[in-house]
Amino acid sequence: MTTTDLEYKYRVTVAGATRLLPFTEAKKHTAYPALCIFHQDDPARAEKGSHLCAACVEWVRTSFDDIAQRWPDLEEALGANGGASSAERVSGTGDLYPPLPINTNISEVMGKARALVWSTVGQLIQDRPDQRLPRDHGTGVLADWLARWHVDYLATHPSVDHLLAVGNELAARAEDCRRTVYRANTYELEMRDSHCHQATEDATGQRVPCRGQVVGILKPDGSKVVQCDVDPLHFMPADQWFQGQARRSPRPSRAINTLKKKYAFKRSHDA
Ligand SMILES: [Zn+2]
Ligand SMILES: [Zn+2]
Repeated sequence: MTTTDLEYKYRVTVAGATRLLPFTEAKKHTAYPALCIFHQDDPARAEKGSHLCAACVEWVRTSFDDIAQRWPDLEEALGANGGASSAERVSGTGDLYPPLPINTNISEVMGKARALVWSTVGQLIQDRPDQRLPRDHGTGVLADWLARWHVDYLATHPSVDHLLAVGNELAARAEDCRRTVYRANTYELEMRDSHCHQATEDATGQRVPCRGQVVGILKPDGSKVVQCDVDPLHFMPADQWFQGQARRSPRPSRAINTLKKKYAFKRSHDA
């Protein structure tokens, strides 16, 4: 007894005739290309019995993994300013906080990534009804499940169009997730003096004070740095910057001891 009758059916050519076969059977009759279906301007040999080269197999895996890894941070970023994001709650109350446009952006990024992960999983369970989904149906968990166990399923899929569609969408969604988390981790420093204290050279080669403003950044490795918005080479660990601030400040200020996480999008520092 097999479950192949329940499987989604694909059109394949068998002995010159077109037939509609369940996933497992269709795969046996799928003609795989000599070259990877992506990056045709820079051709690479496809793995045997696959539409993809080894590098693209790894790329699919790491892209789903990127979504999985960043999902908790996206959820946190989405919830972080939830209080201020409700236009209904603040309108007409005289409240000074306008609804932040940031959440819309994060929820849009998450919505599109969720749609991709879910449609990929949805097709997978139609193709292979024997597959058991993880108990947790969260997007991060499902993306991780795809990255761990189902990259080969995609790379060898009987429908090359399905793989092309997933692959092209995946590139954009993984990139969105990476960039959004990176930006959401930009800190805004709460401080009286946000001037860059480093020197720079003017047009005539003279040393002059830098006119930049500094902003705090949480790097992906968890370290905090303070970086100038004019010259990205003007940066230092946040601790060191705060010590310098304390020395310059006549009285210790509570404000400069605090890093305020603001999920600010105004500077991305993508370099
Ligand atoms: Zn490739
Ligand atoms: Zn500077």
